[in-house]
Amino acid sequence: MSTAASQTIVLREGREASLRRRHPWVFSGAIGRKVGEPAAGDIVEVRSAAGEFLARGYYNPASSLAVRVLTWEEATPVGPDLWRGRLAAALRRRQALAVDPGTSAYRLVYAESDGLPGLIVDRYGDWLVLQSLTLGMDALKGEIVPALVDLTAPRGIFERSDADVRAQEGLASVTGLLYGEEPPDLLETAENGYRFLVDVRAGHKTGAYLDQRENRRKVAPYCRDAEVLNAFSYTGGFAVYAAAQGAALVANLDTSAEALRLAEENLRLNGSRGRVENIQGDAFRTLRRFRDEGRQFDVIVLDPPKFAFSRAQVPSATRGYKDINLLSMRLLRPGGVLATFSCSGSVSEDLFQKVVFGASLDAGREVRILERLAQGPDHPVLLTVPESAYLKGFICRVE
Ligand code: SAH
Repeated sequence: MSTAASQTIVLREGREASLRRRHPWVFSGAIGRKVGEPAAGDIVEVRSAAGEFLARGYYNPASSLAVRVLTWEEATPVGPDLWRGRLAAALRRRQALAVDPGTSAYRLVYAESDGLPGLIVDRYGDWLVLQSLTLGMDALKGEIVPALVDLTAPRGIFERSDADVRAQEGLASVTGLLYGEEPPDLLETAENGYRFLVDVRAGHKTGAYLDQRENRRKVAPYCRDAEVLNAFSYTGGFAVYAAAQGAALVANLDTSAEALRLAEENLRLNGSRGRVENIQGDAFRTLRRFRDEGRQFDVIVLDPPKFAFSRAQVPSATRGYKDINLLSMRLLRPGGVLATFSCSGSVSEDLFQKVVFGASLDAGREVRILERLAQGPDHPVLLTVPESAYLKGFICRVE
């Protein structure tokens, strides 16, 4: 890797506006010319067509997102001191979670939002799980890990650089131990006082959906004495809270047998005594089967995986969201509660509300939004990077 100032990306005329607003991405189409021979993973300076310094970042000619900004300050060198400062700031932002005895699993570093583009670090008790999403971050990992160890003293750091988005950077998956001790097969963590087993080696994302922590807590009070369908349950996050609030039944529905097995264990671990059902199957089909059987619920949680991976997929994603929301509204007893989510970044909250509205019209039900939900505070939305907001949800009363 070279940090020589000669590695420079000069933008085309008039293409510096988004950088001036501190949006930290340079798309390949904005590049006018290169000075020196910047190679994949190099640190480059970004300058306007007039030659003015704009930013310094890492470069990947194989990605349409060619440069991600690491600093806006010309005088700031890119290196270990910068990483240490960024990590320390990220830790300070999570101080409230760090001192919460009921919670040991949360996001420590959320990429661009913490000034470390392409880097995710999640804490699960004594272990950290690190995910690099970009070529530039792969190249910096070796400098960042020692700073992370120094600041957090973990028992081990496990790498889960196996997200699909790496393919857009021309990267293969990398997983394995980066530092310290191997994590156990199932790590026990705490969340708002509940106990959860997490598979950090092979579970989804880095092992758990940490972004839903506060939403699980907000949905729980509606579950008292209720028959709850937890659709797209994964390892039973919403179910554990619902059972603890005295749900009469929690039915977990997921395609993954392994997720359902862990959901059962998580319920047991928290001493749940209510009725539990595990339904392995496709939610689209299972909701239809329930409709045909006339089955009803008091609360339905809909937390599907990402349906839209790009703007082109928004129309098909909204059809999918409408389908499951419409089916769920029909399965709810009058006055029931629908907690519905979308984690597709390209589906805005406004659009998602319109989709739920469309579903309510077709279902012939009057629906009120009681609460608006979003990703938790450990996934902060940096105002200069609106793309960092992706999770939205509504708790609705369905009459
Ligand atoms: N609510 C969970 C996270 C859900 S993630 C929590 O709080 O932890 C989405 C889940 O949907 C995954 O577990 C995935 O296995 C499951 N899934 C994906 N497609 C599905 C489908 N068509 N039907 C049912 N489950 C599906």
